[in-house]
This record gives sequence, C-alpha cells and structure tokens, in this order.
Amino acid sequence: MKDMIEQYRVTDEPYYRAVADEVDLFEAAYAAKMPVMLKGPTGCGKTRFVEHMAWKLGKPLVTVACNEDMTASDIVGRFLLDADGTRWQDGPLTFAARHGAICYLDEVVEARQDTTVVIHPLTDNRRVLPLEKKGELLNAHPDFHLVISYNPGYQSLMKDLKQSTKQRFGALDFNYPEHATEVEIVAHESGVTPEDADKLVSIAERARNLKGHGLDEGISTRMLIHAGSLIAGGIAPVAACHMALVRPITDDPDMRDALDAAVGTYF
Ligand code: ADP
Repeated sequence: MKDMIEQYRVTDEPYYRAVADEVDLFEAAYAAKMPVMLKGPTGCGKTRFVEHMAWKLGKPLVTVACNEDMTASDIVGRFLLDADGTRWQDGPLTFAARHGAICYLDEVVEARQDTTVVIHPLTDNRRVLPLEKKGELLNAHPDFHLVISYNPGYQSLMKDLKQSTKQRFGALDFNYPEHATEVEIVAHESGVTPEDADKLVSIAERARNLKGHGLDEGISTRMLIHAGSLIAGGIAPVAACHMALVRPITDDPDMRDALDAAVGTYF
C-alpha cells in the first residue's frame, strides 16, 4: 500500500503561473485543514493549480473526475469478489484519507447528491469517513486534504451543491488570466511564439464577450494551448484556430461566422 501511494506523488514541478495570492491562500487553508473549493470555468487552470500545490506541499494527489453515474461506492470503496472470497477495495477518497493524500474531486456537482454527502464528516473537525459496508470508521490521516472544483456557469436549480456542502469549504475564484499572463502561459505551454500567443488570446477575449449571447462557454486557456500547439507544429494559424477554437464550441453557423471573423482579424 505504501508503494501504491507513492505512484500518486507529484515528482516534477508542474508549471503554474500564479495570478494572485492563490498559492499563499491554499497553503494557509492546508495548514488550517480547511477544505478548498476552486470555482471557475473549465480550462482556466484549476487542475494545474492543484497539481502544483500537491508538488509544493510534497503530498500525493488523487484526482477523481466526477460524473452523473458516480455512486458513493465509486469514491468510498466496495467489496470485490476474487478467488479467495470477498475483499474490500478502498475507493479513491478513502485511499487518500487513509494515506494522507490531497484528494481532488473535479466537477463534484456532476455526482449524485448522495455522493456529495459522504464527504461531510470528512470536512468538519471530526475528519472521519464512515465505511458503513465495511464496519469501519476511518480517521483521516493528518496530511489528508480535500479539494473540489465547481463551475458556476453549469449549475441549474436541479443540479447544484447544497448549501450544507458549500459552507464546509473555503473558496478560491479562478478565471481566465489577464491578457499578458495568459499570453505567457499559452506561449510556455504550446511552444508558439509570444506574438502568435498574443493574437490567440485576443481572439479568445472577443469570443468570451459572446458568452451568454449564443455561446455557453468562452474559449478557454486550454483551447488556446491546443491552437498554439498546432501552429507550433507547422499548421497554418487560420486552420489551427478553426480546428482548436471554433469548431469544438459551436455548431451554429452564425456563431461560427462570428468566430471565424474574429480569427480573420488577427491572422
Ligand atoms: P481546469 O482544471 O480549470 O479545467 P486546467 O488546469 O486543466 O483547467 O487548465 C488547462 C491548461 O491550461 C493546463 O493544462 C495548463 O496548460 C494551462 N493553464 C491554465 N492556467 C494556467 C496557469 N495559471 N499556469 C500554468 N498553466 C495554466
């Protein structure tokens, strides 16, 4: 088991360009054993930030991408049948709590509400996880830390975190970085020139203004890195932007025209 947890250790420093005081705040929350919620649109650096913090704090990181089919057993654990009979297998949350890892539940609101309730006893000062099927009350390792992400754009009345869940967390707001910072990130991650990265960011800024006017979500930093990687690999910028920035986010012909026009302004 000791070896298994070592696989989750982040050994090389993940590149993360801090945008405000989020690194200090996260470290303080970790020291205070305060669970953290990262709020912001998809592709703006939340996952990279957690990876960086796990590396900085020297703790293993267990990441779970949540989805609507996920049950409490998927994160807590279950009995499995094998040749010798039944054997308990810790789910990722239990595994992290037992061995002192940072557990990152990505898009936790996607999971069913009975799933989110299992994190409650872990997030108050009891820091316990009842494994009811196994008859064990697990005391979380002192190094265990819970982090969740939350995209405020996706929520509906039917699907949101309960207040009783939200109020257990400290929250950090994430957004697309300001222009010069985003240019730096896109150039660093994709290998595109700073001049082209600058144009890509300008296109994204235009597209982000269309959010709510026919676009559900703006062009993310992740998408800009995709476009930049294509350009760095020798693809013509206009073709790269169509493939990586325009086509993935909309099928509406008028919206595609509007975005193509934005691309045409810069390339
Ligand atoms: P999220 O978890 O918010 O959906 P990610 O963390 O996966 O988004 O970010 C997408 C990509 O954008 C990352 O892989 C990384 O290359 C880049 N990125 C975004 N913000 C930053 C940042 N502040 N520093 C370094 N890289 C970043």
